[in-house]
Amino acid sequence: MKFVDEVSIAVQAGDGGDGCLSFRREKFIRFGGPNGGDGGDGGSVYLEADQGLNTLVDYRFHKHFKAKSGQAGMGSECTGRGGEDLVLKVPVGTVVWDATTHEQMGDLIKPNQRLLIAQGGFHGLGNMRFKSSCNQAPRQTTKGRPGESRQLRLELKVLADIGLLGLPNAGKSTFIRSVSAATPKVADYPFTTLYPNLGVVKVAQGQSFVIADIPGVIEGAAEGAGLGIRFLKHLARTRILLHIVDVAPVDGSDPVVNARAIAHELVKFNPELAERERWLVLNKIDLLSPEEREAHCDAIVKGLEWAGPVFKISAIQREGTQQLCYALINRLDEMGPMYAESEEDLAEDQSP
Ligand code: GDP
Ligand code: MG
Repeated sequence: MKFVDEVSIAVQAGDGGDGCLSFRREKFIRFGGPNGGDGGDGGSVYLEADQGLNTLVDYRFHKHFKAKSGQAGMGSECTGRGGEDLVLKVPVGTVVWDATTHEQMGDLIKPNQRLLIAQGGFHGLGNMRFKSSCNQAPRQTTKGRPGESRQLRLELKVLADIGLLGLPNAGKSTFIRSVSAATPKVADYPFTTLYPNLGVVKVAQGQSFVIADIPGVIEGAAEGAGLGIRFLKHLARTRILLHIVDVAPVDGSDPVVNARAIAHELVKFNPELAERERWLVLNKIDLLSPEEREAHCDAIVKGLEWAGPVFKISAIQREGTQQLCYALINRLDEMGPMYAESEEDLAEDQSP
């Protein structure tokens, strides 16, 4: 099963600086020679694979990038300064396409790997370059070349860092919607009813994670064995499970009983997954009056004999959701880099 995070960006390399037309002018020298310097080269644009990134979400907000142009040459044989290169960081595993020709430009598979995506313009030549025995005072220069510009499509296969557990109606989809910046494309997947609901959560520049609501993951496993295994593979990359519990179900059921049922199912579904770090998220606290909130939530935690982390949120009103996201990114950081360990993790979706 694979999810594809995809963005389009436009890049423009810097133009080359023009060559300079200039002659030496000094009081007691009547015919000073040509001394116009060359321009500087324009800066190029590169993509660089960065281990610390795991989504392309930053490029959903900022899509146009331009490297600096080279400066024009100057008199007294001065060369213009070259434009600085621009290096854009992307997660390891990013595939780069030219959006115009649909050609693949490269595949950034190794940390710190660099790919030139737009060449800076070559510098123009100053008139001092054109001096020759038969032309002592050339007035010729060349212009800098324009930098390359390109439309690119970046593609990254992503695996969820955070998995959501919970009964239907607990608020999983609402939670994803309230915290995520965008939803990556989900690749063709035959089991449409079990389509995972996915979001990319951006906490700060360069800090993001992928969250997946996998509805029916638990019920699904009992049915198709193959499906169960594939979900399992996907979940193998999940670092933290959030167990979302509705604190005030409309059907009047007991949140403690509901939560126990899910925990039970999880053990049956996959004992290994049940060992994974799990946080309790008490949702819909907006339905409780401020006075009863504390006691009501405490009672659920006690009833579950829950000793792990607890968060109280209202997914719909975005109350407590930001704190939860910060806590998640901090914990994920502590756990180490999040890129896929092997190609296999990402490529298991070839079979039907
Ligand atoms: P899912 O089945 O777990 O994905 O649950 P949904 O996200 O679809 O939510 C089920 C229902 O609960 C919807 O009607 C939501 O509007 C509602 N809901 C979700 N979160 C909250 C919340 O924080 N407060 C309240 N009052 N309702 C919520
Ligand atoms: Mg849902």
